[in-house]
Amino acid sequence: MLNPSARHLTAQACLQDVFGYNSFRGEQQEIVDHMVAGGDALVLMPTGGGKSLCYQLPALLRQGVGIVVSPLIALMQDQVDALQQLGVKAAFLNSSLNSEEFSKVTAALLRGELQVLYVAPERLLIPNFLSLLEQVADHIGIALFAIDEAHCVSQWGHDFRPEYRKLTVLHERFPHVPRIALTATADAPTRAEIIERLALEDARQFISSFDRPNIKYRVLLKANARQQLESFIESEHPNDAGIIYCLSRRKVEETAERLKAKGWDALPYHAGLDADIRHAHQRRFLREEGVIMVATVAFGMGIDKPNVRFVAHLDLPKSMEGYYQETGRAGRDGLPANAWMTYGLGDVVNMKQMLENSDAPAERQHVERQKLDALLGFCESTACRHQTILRYFGEQHPGDCGQCDNCLTPTDTWDGTQAAQMALSCVYRTGQRFGVVHLIDVLLGKTSPKVTQFNHEQLSTFGIGKSLSQTQWSSVFRQLVASGYLETDMDAFGGLRLTEAARPVLRSEVMVWLRQDQETPKRASKVERG
Ligand code: ADP
Ligand code: ZN
Repeated sequence: MLNPSARHLTAQACLQDVFGYNSFRGEQQEIVDHMVAGGDALVLMPTGGGKSLCYQLPALLRQGVGIVVSPLIALMQDQVDALQQLGVKAAFLNSSLNSEEFSKVTAALLRGELQVLYVAPERLLIPNFLSLLEQVADHIGIALFAIDEAHCVSQWGHDFRPEYRKLTVLHERFPHVPRIALTATADAPTRAEIIERLALEDARQFISSFDRPNIKYRVLLKANARQQLESFIESEHPNDAGIIYCLSRRKVEETAERLKAKGWDALPYHAGLDADIRHAHQRRFLREEGVIMVATVAFGMGIDKPNVRFVAHLDLPKSMEGYYQETGRAGRDGLPANAWMTYGLGDVVNMKQMLENSDAPAERQHVERQKLDALLGFCESTACRHQTILRYFGEQHPGDCGQCDNCLTPTDTWDGTQAAQMALSCVYRTGQRFGVVHLIDVLLGKTSPKVTQFNHEQLSTFGIGKSLSQTQWSSVFRQLVASGYLETDMDAFGGLRLTEAARPVLRSEVMVWLRQDQETPKRASKVERG
């Protein structure tokens, strides 16, 4: 049933007249048509792909009000403002409203004066509100339910919202209202979970490509990260807008200070700053040219700045999903952009320790460990970055991209089986409780005070590793930790110990291939600047 006021409008006309766009993007048109016709849909589209239009436009074309469930309370106001500016009658309901504002919105809803209503899930699920929606359905009509950020239904994702699981109530109480679930982050298992949890078995699936051909991915070995970063910006993005991600608030502040001192227009952004300051920084980043935002992952949700030319990571993201989403904020305009990251042994150890220390339930920790391992595998990989990323999201990239670091400067691999055996047995013989620095001293046969203290010059592994340099050993250990042959032992102050996977290596049952790191990072970065 079409909305009387928009009955004359086709989807194409509405796209132009209301939204001001000339043409649909990607699969938008198919999705819109499917929804207007009353079907259910699951939409997987990368961030910035244009998901909002997929429910906003059908909400206008169908009879009644479109109800949008979103966990992002902070963004509702922006979305509603944007719609109102287009002349759409939109409102939102969440905990930021006082009771007077709340009554005003519900009154408008009951009078049939709203076309789109954003609702926080906990609001929607209040029994009184569901009864109210039933009245709306009977008298005015509900055009559709849109469930945004649908991956929040998955217990194993980072954004799990228990209320999302109760959203099946929509299907039960409003079986004739079409539903559209949307997300930018869903691997195949998460997708299956969304379908099951939201009872979308009969929904049509629209899966868009995750390929971002204009982004050049690059992972550098950490030497002096800040200096590496500065020379990257200086040589490739002297006047460009970019985002630099750091793990801690302190590092955000320090990095922003340092860049500012060197003359860049850099601003910090993290959850510990006053809301006013955060808002002001975000505005400057969006409105002005050439601002560099140094931020924790708190920054970026819903940020839509087309000409971000680079995203840099000074610390590892938690997963491939995180990496993809964060780097995906670069180059939305389709012009070339850089995704740049430094990474070293310390990062691997840090991230693994953080997981170890988390008090999440065991099953969830297991999933998080797997997600981190996939990311570490990506860092250490010598294959085309585009291929690796797309494979992770269940897609295939036709051939090498020819643009990423691994395509431009292919990394050699070497048979590191023997080196791995030396390293692993050194860990074993020293009692599985020492850190990398000491282990390398033993392998290189250095009589450091610690070596003497523990009589490690007596060990059979003392001095057996002289054919490799300190740097090479450090690379070997990093890769052994990243690949899961070694793990950090929190009970031994972060010393390394063997995992089950190490046994077959020690017994020469499997081979270990390692990447040949560039010896001098300076030279490496010059080569990589293609
Ligand atoms: P997502 O929710 O998938 O991250 P949005 O819905 O916020 O993406 O859309 C991203 C940007 O693309 C917005 O600025 C939006 O206005 C713009 N956009 C969406 N669809 C179109 C279109 N058909 N033509 C031009 N711009 C579009
Ligand atoms: Zn490539």
